[in-house]
Amino acid sequence: MSDHQEACIFCRIAAGDMETAFVVETDRVVAFDDISPQAPIHVQVIPKRHVDSVHELGSGDTALWAEILDVANRVAVKKGVDESGFRLVSNAGPDSGQEVHHLHVHVLGGKKLGPIA
Ligand code: 5GP
Ligand code: ZN
Repeated sequence: MSDHQEACIFCRIAAGDMETAFVVETDRVVAFDDISPQAPIHVQVIPKRHVDSVHELGSGDTALWAEILDVANRVAVKKGVDESGFRLVSNAGPDSGQEVHHLHVHVLGGKKLGPIA
């Protein structure tokens, strides 16, 4: 593992170093519960490969992005919020308040969610 990956908490989670339970796992994507949930259901969906944010995805990454969305939908079913509804959020860059600089899509649900911003 590179120095960068060792410093990145989500790379370490994806590599299995933190013994985090995965809600869903595919070849290239994992989903796991957020450590500090902002809603009854709060799951992170991330690529196993390090990508800084959604803004760093290129034209060669369309299949990876589709896989991330597919996993988010599977998370919604597994967590029982596919009928009640859920929200996907991916912060990118300073104004968004992105804190973990490894692409992640928040899956939020389990209650009536407030305004987006
Ligand atoms: P951001 O603000 O970057 O969009 O969101 C980062 C998210 O990662 C936050 O919701 C935070 O609670 C979550 N998070 C940060 N560190 C960890 C960790 O070590 N484990 C898990 N499961 N979630 C984390
Ligand atoms: Zn990373």
